[in-house]
Amino acid sequence: MKRALLSGNEAVALGAWCAGVRVAAAYPGTPSTEILEELARYPDVYCEWSPNEKVAMEVGIGSCLGGARTLVAMKHVGLNVAADPWMTLPYIGVNAGLVLAVADDPGMHSSQNEQDSRYYARMAKVPMLEPADSSECFEMIRAALELSERHDTPVMLRLETRISHSRTVVEYREERRTVDLPYEKDAVKRVMIPGHARLRHPVVIERLGDLQRESESSPFNRVEMRSTRIGIVASGVCYQYAREAFPEASLLKLGFVYPLPEKMLHEFASHFRRLYVVEEMEPWIEESLKAMGIDVVGKARIPRDGELDPDVVARSLSELMEMDTGVRGGGWSPPAPRGTPPDQSVLPSRPPVMCPGCPHRGLFYALRRNKAVVSSDIGCYTLSVLPPLSGIDCQVCMGAGVGMALGLEKAFASSEANAGKAGKVVGVLGDSTFIHGGITGLIDMVYNRTLSTIVILDNRTTAMTGFQDHPGTGRTLMGEETFALDLAELARAVGVESVRVVDPWDLAETEAAVAEEIAAPRTSVIISRRSCVLRERQEGFPYRVNEEKCDACKRCLRLGCPALVMRDEAAVIDEDLCVGCSLCAQVCGRDAIEGVGGYA
Ligand code: SF4
Ligand code: SF4
Repeated sequence: MKRALLSGNEAVALGAWCAGVRVAAAYPGTPSTEILEELARYPDVYCEWSPNEKVAMEVGIGSCLGGARTLVAMKHVGLNVAADPWMTLPYIGVNAGLVLAVADDPGMHSSQNEQDSRYYARMAKVPMLEPADSSECFEMIRAALELSERHDTPVMLRLETRISHSRTVVEYREERRTVDLPYEKDAVKRVMIPGHARLRHPVVIERLGDLQRESESSPFNRVEMRSTRIGIVASGVCYQYAREAFPEASLLKLGFVYPLPEKMLHEFASHFRRLYVVEEMEPWIEESLKAMGIDVVGKARIPRDGELDPDVVARSLSELMEMDTGVRGGGWSPPAPRGTPPDQSVLPSRPPVMCPGCPHRGLFYALRRNKAVVSSDIGCYTLSVLPPLSGIDCQVCMGAGVGMALGLEKAFASSEANAGKAGKVVGVLGDSTFIHGGITGLIDMVYNRTLSTIVILDNRTTAMTGFQDHPGTGRTLMGEETFALDLAELARAVGVESVRVVDPWDLAETEAAVAEEIAAPRTSVIISRRSCVLRERQEGFPYRVNEEKCDACKRCLRLGCPALVMRDEAAVIDEDLCVGCSLCAQVCGRDAIEGVGGYA
């Protein structure tokens, strides 16, 4: 046996490899990204970054039908994109096992919403396992694949940020199983015309009964009996929180979470006057228990938004538990304070900012100068919403910047109240997200004759999640050189009349392009192209402010570059941060900023 300290994502990858997964597909998204990055390091497994999560799911469906054990990974919002194939996959079944590893992000460390993916398991009538540490991540992948094959169904492995990114010890044997199942044609089972789907839906419902029986005896559901005065039901990281907050409490730890082990829950509940459910986000377990006729205390006390931790759990429940046990705080002792906490009021606020030399800065500066109404999608450039650039009006999800631009333009075109805004709409999105979900919106704009401009912020990578490749970069996840999608040619091919490429470090060129395209009555695309400065260090030199020339007008500060500050009535550049993009020098009206060299 080997022992290793692994994150949950690393353990999922190792478990998948040992269990014989031969095909894996994903679109990068925090907190799930590292699963595929890790798995791609192992031999004899095909891994791909798919253009989006829906395609990843479809690749997975084809692969499992073709007889290969398959892993599909994504973050919670990605499952919205993949929901269409996901909802029908249980009808057609799997052949070799398919596991969907989906990672939720309570507290929204890197997401636009808090979304509880457990509802997708119930909605699709798909079994769901939820690990509580890396060791369970490793074990559950194999168990989930076997469960998938035993019941001819996909299985969801539901992760959360703290499980995906925390490291705990995993004991494992470095052995890889071989699974290679024969492919068989079965159109009634695998072609979901309504007549076939009507035959398959009762099978899916009946399967739930079999799964429920399996859940009752699953080793991942266990009772830890201690005090008979406090009973808690929890799963995943919340099990760890509950155990730490109330070490004397009895716990029913759920790992096979859907379908729930109903008999086991009734039996456990019978020992306690009051039962508690500790879970993050939605009252998913709580609602299920109440539907079974088990009265529980859950979201009436425990916060429904944000992340929990042992302290939050303890504070939420200690008053009631004190009544149950007669013991002060229900046995919870607040942690000893660790020194004097800092006075928050004297600490400077440090909002997130785009990096010094970020290629997106010049583009958003140009948009602001042109008073554009900007709809955006999700990427590191979304940080331009903050002052001083204040560059974005609205944003919801990946690819939406294009469709929203169309909607805004159509509304403004027929509006008296917003008369001046028609023709000023610009949709922005990244290169990876243009391929992910933006291209269909662009086709719609051309088809429905929308006189707006789309800007593709092409920094040659998927920067926000850690520089993953995509179909435009010319490299695959497996490190192979491949065809690089030409975004400009693609835009022209779908009928965009004007497509131009600008360098956002050249402010005059970028501002002129934005002004011309906003003014022109046509659908247009501007590709703002320069590599992310973190991925590809540019050939620049630090710039310096000539204090003799600087009159402290602060114009350069409108760029929001973190390398630039005002000190003693003059701008100052931190040469350790400056990458020499020259934007500040281009903005300064007094030629007070001088480059030692120039940019490539
Ligand atoms: S724009 Fe030029 S003159 Fe104005 S503060 Fe910056 S460096 Fe000084
Ligand atoms: S040249 Fe100016 S804008 Fe560019 S990184 Fe340096 S300080 Fe920032």
